[in-house]
Amino acid sequence: MRLYLIVRALRESFLLGIFWLYVLLLVVALLCMFAFPPVTIGLFWCGLVSLPLVLIAGRMVHMLQHLLARRLLSRGHCPACGSDIMRPGEPGMEWYCGQCGHGFLADGEETLEVESPAGPA
Ligand SMILES: [Zn+2]
Repeated sequence: MRLYLIVRALRESFLLGIFWLYVLLLVVALLCMFAFPPVTIGLFWCGLVSLPLVLIAGRMVHMLQHLLARRLLSRGHCPACGSDIMRPGEPGMEWYCGQCGHGFLADGEETLEVESPAGPA
């Protein structure tokens, strides 16, 4: 369950983290533009080349999250909180956790996110 939560947090912050990384590289490239132009050109090409790799990495994190969720669901545990979860009556229906309120599709995708009983901090 912990691995699932780590991967879910990684997935949730992945795109924003990549965005800020590219912003940082842009700032470095702008600062180096007049001092040492090859750095700017190198960063530009690195950014272009790494973009498809970042998209592939994001897709792999997404697939890993689904894989971990399916594995936990098949064992009868909620991926979000670890409590026992009831198998849905019909195939293709949503798994629903009565403890934390999260819902999961059969492919592992989370469909519902409910605030904790204590509410927002
Ligand atoms: Zn749960």
